[in-house]
Amino acid sequence: MNEISHPISESTSLATREMIDQIVAVDPELLRCQTCGYIIHEDGTDHCPECGVDIDMRNICKHAIDTNHERFKLLWYTQVAELPVEDLCCTNCAYRLVGLTTNRCPECGEEFDWDNVCDAAISKSCMLFEFQWFADPLKSLAKTYWIGVTSPFRLWRTYPRSDTPRVTPLVILILVQWLVFARGWHAMALAIDPLMNKFIAVLPGLGTPRMRFTYGPRYENNDLITYALWSVGTLLTLQLFVQSKREHRVHWRQVLRVFAHSTLLASLCTALWCVLEAVLDSTLYYLPWPQDSRNNAKIIAFEYYAGLGNCMMGLALASIWVMLWIGYKKYLRIPHGWAIAAVALFVGHLAAQCVNIASSWEY
Ligand SMILES: [Zn+2]
Ligand SMILES: [Zn+2]
Repeated sequence: MNEISHPISESTSLATREMIDQIVAVDPELLRCQTCGYIIHEDGTDHCPECGVDIDMRNICKHAIDTNHERFKLLWYTQVAELPVEDLCCTNCAYRLVGLTTNRCPECGEEFDWDNVCDAAISKSCMLFEFQWFADPLKSLAKTYWIGVTSPFRLWRTYPRSDTPRVTPLVILILVQWLVFARGWHAMALAIDPLMNKFIAVLPGLGTPRMRFTYGPRYENNDLITYALWSVGTLLTLQLFVQSKREHRVHWRQVLRVFAHSTLLASLCTALWCVLEAVLDSTLYYLPWPQDSRNNAKIIAFEYYAGLGNCMMGLALASIWVMLWIGYKKYLRIPHGWAIAAVALFVGHLAAQCVNIASSWEY
């Protein structure tokens, strides 16, 4: 296999001709018409000579680089991930390395590794909590939550695969999620309580006695200890799959990174539960719920609230499983991650329950 001699050109975006030359140097059969597969090498061609379809040479190049990530690693960073070239600096003295053909910094003489340089550039331009927790904690936390909940696939494309994850911000991230889970209900109840009671006050009485809504927590502090135990048990179990980690050359810190991002959606579930309970309560006005014979008030049976709670905890658990699965597949590249995740969730649950039973045992 040919090595690319000088991967990053002096211009911020490579001319297509240069890109074509570099791709052809590695493998002359990579650039093909996306419709019929005809091999195309000429820049300036706007129709496929074989099938006549419109072609965009830059797109074809990007596609070839993206689908051969390992072989075009350095081209990939500037062309597909579109890292700003000014961020590609010497990690020792911050000298700009763009256009260099050697692996030695001309400013400080230090030898460098393009992987490390690119990782540093990603950290600099990446807004995730792990990289910006010190400089901009709130914004980066919000950003991490947003990407993690709405597009976990993008989350794992954003992280570099070759760097060593930082333990401190990841542990802080896990603790923050624990706090969001533990106090999410209470925070939501603070907002919803007055809102629901104000809402009731402006509605016509509808012949029923005045109601007052209170959203007292549906779980106790004991449950929080169980969750903490579950967290430790699950993480330890994930780490115990030493064989898989060695086979796929995965560092324990990378497993920690996957775990730290697997509970993002689940941590929001208690807050969501509170909102859904308020929604359920508001159906008192327009659904024919059974009425209490003594004072004619409509009642929602307790089973509905309990069912809602079970649904939310089920959703939390399912989301953790799926998030772990995606992390294992897309980031750690371990194909049977779904099974490892299932085993870890089960063992974590078991460990939490055992400690729970042991501690509540009455002698
Ligand atoms: Zn064609
Ligand atoms: Zn340097």
